[in-house]
Amino acid sequence: MGLMRRLGVGPSDDSDPYECQGCESEFEVQYQVCPECGSYAVERVDWD
Ligand SMILES: [Zn+2]
Repeated sequence: MGLMRRLGVGPSDDSDPYECQGCESEFEVQYQVCPECGSYAVERVDWD
């Protein structure tokens, strides 16, 4: 029964978080510049 997963229904852990490589803060949107530390290294987190 993987239908719900296919549809992306459920908690927002299906979204792709972004993480600052400088201070390790996580964001739901990709900042060009990290609002926490000013680093430009905000990149998508790869859970797999
Ligand atoms: Zn940062």
